[in-house]
Amino acid sequence: MSNCLFCRIAAGEIPAKIAYEDNDVVAFHDINPQAPLHVVIIPRKHIATINDIEAGDAELVGKLYLAAQKIAADAGHAEDGYRVVMNCGADAGQSVFHIHLHLLAGRHLSWPPG
Ligand code: 5GP
Ligand code: ZN
Repeated sequence: MSNCLFCRIAAGEIPAKIAYEDNDVVAFHDINPQAPLHVVIIPRKHIATINDIEAGDAELVGKLYLAAQKIAADAGHAEDGYRVVMNCGADAGQSVFHIHLHLLAGRHLSWPPG
């Protein structure tokens, strides 16, 4: 989708600090980090929200988690821990309507979140 911010980042049309990419997934550092490590992990395929994920996307969504695991491990957080979260819709605070995992690490993360 040409008017989607994250599609444009995935296409290289808008610059971002890339943390990881492959044929299916792109990960980049959040512009407004909420932890020492805050990476946004997206599928190259445009899917607006969790509500729009289809059965055929199951492997793709799994790949988002594998990317999170790798980025966290490469940054040295496999043992100390990290949080991976995907917001859906207004009440959860989703602001960009292209699904993305937030990977947060490098500080203690309280629970429940706000
Ligand atoms: P959401 O609120 O939809 O769960 O998360 C969207 C995230 O994307 C936010 O954490 C926000 O800081 C980040 N973000 C929004 N625009 C940009 C951008 O242009 N570049 C980067 N790197 N991150 C962005
Ligand atoms: Zn998109």
